[in-house]
Amino acid sequence: LTRAGTIADHLRKYESLLTITPQRMRMIVTAFEETLDKGLQRGGEVVVIPTFVFGWPSGKETGDFLAVDLGGTNLRVCLVSLYGEGKFEVTQTKYRLTEEQKQGEGSELFDFCAQCLDSFIRDNLGRGDDDELLPLGFTFSYPCEQLRIDHGTLIRWTKGFGAANVEGNDAAELFKDSLKKFNVRAELTALINDTTGTLIASNYVNPDTRIAVIFGTGCNAAYMETAENIPKIEFMGLPKSQDMAINCEWGAFDSFKHEHLPRTRYDIIIDESSNKPGEQSFEKMIAGLYLGEIFRLILAELIDSGDLFLGQNTYKLEKAYAFDTAFLSLMESDPTDELLTVIGIFNHFFGIETTLEERQFFRQLAVLIGTRSARLSACGIAAIVQKKGYLEKGCAVGADGSLYNKYPHFADRIHEALVDIFGEAGRKIVTHHAEDGSGVGSAIIAAMTKKRK
Ligand code: ADP
Repeated sequence: LTRAGTIADHLRKYESLLTITPQRMRMIVTAFEETLDKGLQRGGEVVVIPTFVFGWPSGKETGDFLAVDLGGTNLRVCLVSLYGEGKFEVTQTKYRLTEEQKQGEGSELFDFCAQCLDSFIRDNLGRGDDDELLPLGFTFSYPCEQLRIDHGTLIRWTKGFGAANVEGNDAAELFKDSLKKFNVRAELTALINDTTGTLIASNYVNPDTRIAVIFGTGCNAAYMETAENIPKIEFMGLPKSQDMAINCEWGAFDSFKHEHLPRTRYDIIIDESSNKPGEQSFEKMIAGLYLGEIFRLILAELIDSGDLFLGQNTYKLEKAYAFDTAFLSLMESDPTDELLTVIGIFNHFFGIETTLEERQFFRQLAVLIGTRSARLSACGIAAIVQKKGYLEKGCAVGADGSLYNKYPHFADRIHEALVDIFGEAGRKIVTHHAEDGSGVGSAIIAAMTKKRK
């Protein structure tokens, strides 16, 4: 920064923009709980999704299952062997998705998934054409309207996806077409959301788990609800006490109307320049896809005003989404007084020289952005806790995704926020690293589905 004294001023400004007070959090929790309630009603404008996953696993589920996970940055294919008693084994391969696949023709995206699964089966299972088809759980982590477990009409793409001719269609059917086309030796038996898978997998190994949250490219959660509280599925005539997992699709909280979340101009820029303006408001303030961009937009503002990097060539930093959220993690975990990692990031990736004072400022900014993300997430968790009355006994929250797993202090910040919201009782709500939902969870759900048929 150019002028002495201005760093502290800037920091104060960003602090007040990005800090969420306990009082504000409690207001968000109340609005969040109302949104969840509305989402369970018939014809509600908010979409909270009944998943057709009926209740908790027994822990006795066993067998071999395939799982395909299409949910964000990578495509993952797994073979899961369930041994019961919370034990399992996973063999997996990851495939990188290209931007063309994400934005191109939908059928080509599903063809690619089918081909990856086919080569995985050939490499790992050596199955012939006469062998029995292995059951396949398909984790498709985008909001889908489900009528049964092996069906899901895509409501809208999220997380930057935009492949053509998938929205409004049954993603399970599209994938089945591709499986048939390439004669893949697998039978799609369940379409699940990664949050639901995480809920079930975490409960399989830790029965105290009541809620699951994903903090990856996007952000979403799932919990278990009883049929009597889900007016949307009254038509099924289920017993009132029948449990069904609910995919909250909470990334969409406060979309379009923007009444509850303290959005900054950076959040608004991200929203308006996204391929889905107005949508996924909550997610855009929290998830891995966006945190680095919030940071970059603040820097861009300071560059424009002539407060930062005067006389340096900053074009690399001026490119949208050039600053990955992983850089914020790295900056926060830099152990050196000189902040050598921060020097490295700016120098190596952006060709920019930094002063120590600037680096300290950047790290503080990362703290503010990461903390806001954790505190907003805590509001969502608190809303489910309050709605289900989990505060009294406490409960475990299975959490997964790179942001949760790799961002320093992320879990601590959520826990601290829960205490800010609930007082000391908030300590009874504890997040922990979840079991692999889209692999193991999807296999358990496929096994539960088999038993129910
Ligand atoms: P998925 O795409 O299935 O959600 P991840 O859970 O790995 O996969 O999330 C990917 C997101 O996490 C990306 O947006 C990426 O920017 C972010 N990310 C990757 N590494 C880190 C890290 N070390 N710290 C924080 N965020 C990260």
